[in-house]
Amino acid sequence: MVVYAILDGMPRPMPIDPKLGINARMASISATQAPTSQPGPDGRRDLKSLPKAHLHLHFTGSLDVPTLIELADAMGQSLPEELTDARAFTTPATTKGWFRFQRFYDIARHVVIGEAAMRTVVDTAARLDAADGSRRLEIQIDPNSYAPAVGGIINALDIVLDEAVTASRRYGVQIGVIVAASRLRHPIEARTLARLAARQAGQLPGDVVGFGLSNDEWAGDTTAWEGAFRIARNAGLPGVPHGGELRGPDHIRTVVAALHPARLGHGVRSAEDLRLLDDLVEQGIALEVCPSSNVSLSVYQTLADVPLRQLVDAGATVALGADDPLLFIDRLCDQYAIARDVMGFTDEQLAGLARSSIRASFAPDVDKAQWLAEVDAWLGS
Ligand SMILES: [Zn+2]
Repeated sequence: MVVYAILDGMPRPMPIDPKLGINARMASISATQAPTSQPGPDGRRDLKSLPKAHLHLHFTGSLDVPTLIELADAMGQSLPEELTDARAFTTPATTKGWFRFQRFYDIARHVVIGEAAMRTVVDTAARLDAADGSRRLEIQIDPNSYAPAVGGIINALDIVLDEAVTASRRYGVQIGVIVAASRLRHPIEARTLARLAARQAGQLPGDVVGFGLSNDEWAGDTTAWEGAFRIARNAGLPGVPHGGELRGPDHIRTVVAALHPARLGHGVRSAEDLRLLDDLVEQGIALEVCPSSNVSLSVYQTLADVPLRQLVDAGATVALGADDPLLFIDRLCDQYAIARDVMGFTDEQLAGLARSSIRASFAPDVDKAQWLAEVDAWLGS
């Protein structure tokens, strides 16, 4: 069963899925109907107007269902129901489960063929992020995945960087790009990507702002990517590999020792080892926590099981992220609604999460200072 709600003047399908916290979802809808930083009658402020940074979002995964359908229609390509029914995708936290997730992601990716489609992805991500109160989006892409249709990885990256500049101006959200290698490709390719990324390194919209490593955390030997991350780091590009999502504390230690990350994609499973968590806090390694994704991929059974509160209480710098809203449906602001409605975060604590996301971004200090002041204004402090 799908319920439609009017959101920003548009009917948006709202799946009934108790596992993914429909209450949180409905709360986020009602929040959008009062676009003000003043507390509403229930004493709660509008989450969409809370300034924040979005640091964990994949390229094709950033699309929404209507835009994916438009792209597929334009190509005369049909899509499986799993990608069009606007229900959050779920799969077990096993290699087989990950393979299933990846299979649907790949089907969606095969709709993003060519320059126009790639530009549409960036534009859509920027538009939807801006609507969620994002001031800074750091979107990640493996250019190899889009290269064949545009004449190679250099062109693929250039298209994304160019559109990032345009979309940043159009929607008033800074878009930096994270070039991410895949664990399913040979580490030598990652070094090539790191050299390509290094040539475009910077902090501003349209720059490459970081270097990542994504896909099945069980695949490959993490230390084999050490060289690629060194190349990136030497060019001033901070490392943002995935880690501590499908695998636990031991693998987080390996990722930290080998790849020297500034932030960890997910890192939630550091909550299983308090000494490790303390180490991450001490080293200032931020965690990109994506609650909806964690439940969809069965890292945790329910949203209430995601240890967000524990991570924050331990002093971790946390940036909430949507990961792949095309499949998980919840977008950035929904993650804040989950923190509020499922985990009991107060407006002050939600403002703390927003500050944390801004601080963990790779934006210039002057911009961070401005957004932090806007968070204070949201709180009325
Ligand atoms: Zn991810």
